[in-house]
Amino acid sequence: MNKISFLFLLVTQLLSSQFDNKQLNSIDIISYRFNIEINDTTNVINAKAVIKFVRKKPVKTLGLNLFQKKADGYGMTVSKVLNSTHQNIKFSHENDSLHIFLPQITKRTKDTLNIEIFYQGQPADGLYIRKNKYGKRTFFGDNWPNRARYWLPTIDHPSDKAKVAWTITAPKHYDVVASGRRIFKISEDKTNTFHYETKVPIPTKVMVFAAADFNIKNFEKLYLKKQCVPVSSWIYQDSPVKGFDDYKCALSILKFYDSLLGPYSFQKLANVQSNTRFGGMENAGNIFYDENTVDGTKSVENLVAHEVAHQWFGNAVTEKNWRDIWLSE
Ligand SMILES: [Zn+2]
Repeated sequence: MNKISFLFLLVTQLLSSQFDNKQLNSIDIISYRFNIEINDTTNVINAKAVIKFVRKKPVKTLGLNLFQKKADGYGMTVSKVLNSTHQNIKFSHENDSLHIFLPQITKRTKDTLNIEIFYQGQPADGLYIRKNKYGKRTFFGDNWPNRARYWLPTIDHPSDKAKVAWTITAPKHYDVVASGRRIFKISEDKTNTFHYETKVPIPTKVMVFAAADFNIKNFEKLYLKKQCVPVSSWIYQDSPVKGFDDYKCALSILKFYDSLLGPYSFQKLANVQSNTRFGGMENAGNIFYDENTVDGTKSVENLVAHEVAHQWFGNAVTEKNWRDIWLSE
């Protein structure tokens, strides 16, 4: 990401949050499945998170980061939590932590559990719902480094990577890009539903979706060391058509790093014009670039090279502790 000055502002925040997850030794998240409905009338998202995790020690609760609804109306409210047999289980939501009470186990053996969390709210951060430079409504996940918690119940720590699947239901005019490969798109009367899944675990900081009025250009597929990877440009429908080629340099850059550093880890490389707060944000397999990078002048090669490099440094190889967050820069 292009964010040098922003790093300074983060120091205090990260020092205070480096101890905010004491359970990393006892819980390991295997996968998240997020079902999210977005709409054009409010900024409230209706969501369900299905979380599969391993309990490595006999702890009594699963603690997740999730920002609570505040007096200003921003934040998330959990309506219920179900176990794998769809029975309600107890939870508490305090100090922006969601604690879910687990069935007790007596033996010191591992067990694997599934829970479903139903929640809704208006994100205070982490998912930007706002107009782009052309006045069109857009949704962009912007989690780095610890802002997934504003809209996704997660262990929001770079050391606990997990697979992720997204099912996003949006009004018909939106197209949706997300971490992983698109598995299907279902069209209904007024909405489309998009489903994406990753094959590999990724950290929450680069686990996102975006919805906007996009035009998409698929470049040729790249034959890399271990796989064939589709590379694409996603630009606003109001952007000049020649803007597709501003990101075309990603083809040769990706091929170069794949030969130099080792096999590329993700199933696609989408280069996305976006509303990110950063100059560029290296979300795994779909990089979000500042919306002003698209002008048809092909002048962002340095930025593209920087963000594609993060697919190895920061996304495939990730930090064990917050103090190592320099790896993402
Ligand atoms: Zn960077």
